Amino acid sequence: MIYLDNAATTKPNETALKKAAVYVTEQYFNPSAPYKAGEDLNVALKIARSNLVRHIADENVFECIFTSCGTEGDNAAVFAYGRRGNVVTTEVEHSAVLNAVTELKNRGIAEPRIAKVLADGRVDIEHLLSLVDEKTTLVSVMHVNNETGAINDINAIAKAVKEKNPRVVFHSDGVQGYGKIPVKLSSFVDLYAVSAHKIGGLKGVGALFKKKSLAFRPLIYGGGQESGKRSGTENVFGIKSFEYAAEEKFKTLEADNKRLYAYQEKMTALLDGAYFKRISSKDGSPYILYVSAKILRGEIIVRLAYDRGLIISTASACSNNSKRRYSRVALACGLDEKTADGVLRISFSPETTEEEIVKASEILNAIAKEYAPKMR
Ligand code: PLP
Repeated sequence: MIYLDNAATTKPNETALKKAAVYVTEQYFNPSAPYKAGEDLNVALKIARSNLVRHIADENVFECIFTSCGTEGDNAAVFAYGRRGNVVTTEVEHSAVLNAVTELKNRGIAEPRIAKVLADGRVDIEHLLSLVDEKTTLVSVMHVNNETGAINDINAIAKAVKEKNPRVVFHSDGVQGYGKIPVKLSSFVDLYAVSAHKIGGLKGVGALFKKKSLAFRPLIYGGGQESGKRSGTENVFGIKSFEYAAEEKFKTLEADNKRLYAYQEKMTALLDGAYFKRISSKDGSPYILYVSAKILRGEIIVRLAYDRGLIISTASACSNNSKRRYSRVALACGLDEKTADGVLRISFSPETTEEEIVKASEILNAIAKEYAPKMR
């Protein structure tokens, strides 16, 4: 099988798993236990927090709160800082942000204000800023879109937002950015949510990077773990494997990106232009190639490709739960319904090889050639 659905999840990194194995086989203690074995694990968690933050932010400014996933990090941010007034976000956010913001409205807390995006999927900054006023409490703009791969310059956007209202808390969903797109969080960004399973860690582990200076109202109350900011016994194995997977990922980030950008170009060139049209822009994430099949439905191609040994996706895996025919992200980018019906998300990992790119293109071209005449 050729696996090109890495934006949905990645294969766990073997080096990271091996290194972290000791935290299930030997050091399985509770990190809050009041004896040395527990204290040792507490130290191991502290090191993981520091190592994970340090890749993209100043450790003196940002802290790391472990969560159960990226969705929890986004929810924690929205419910902690979306206060009375309005909350501004974008129409292409992951449901982890959009549905949480809708829930703020359902609870009568805040009015959601939704910024438009440009054709390439980046937020329309002018429109976003026009929605920010003195009653805005939270602005949430994703770093990298999980469907189109569009990259937002979150430091610049956060700066512009704060110039308009310095009291706004700025959150960014960094789930598709962390470990993939080089960034150093400026102090204009307050919160950044990440998830382990998108970069070779395990499902069920995430983190919210938060400016230390910000007071925080937890989403989950209990035994006071994570300095009272997120109760629940920490998944030490999951967290340590996340730390090690991130270490591996950041080591080769620049070289991986260069290679994956070249693969994107290669695949774009190999896909038959009579049947496929590239949607994602060249300056998006090197990890995501977003194309539309001009004739067939994306959903059908995905199934046919699977039968021929290629795993790709249409829209994001999570939006498959919504039973919507067209991807809301594709429509938000201005694609007509026919083009939106044919969207395919092809997403790479550092393990993706050139041979796989060639083979995947052949499979997709063969499917299109075979089925397109039947659709006329
Ligand atoms: N945000 C984005 C941009 C994502 O792509 C995803 C997962 O697909 C999430 C949030 C949710 O992350 P998790 O699966 O860890 O809950």
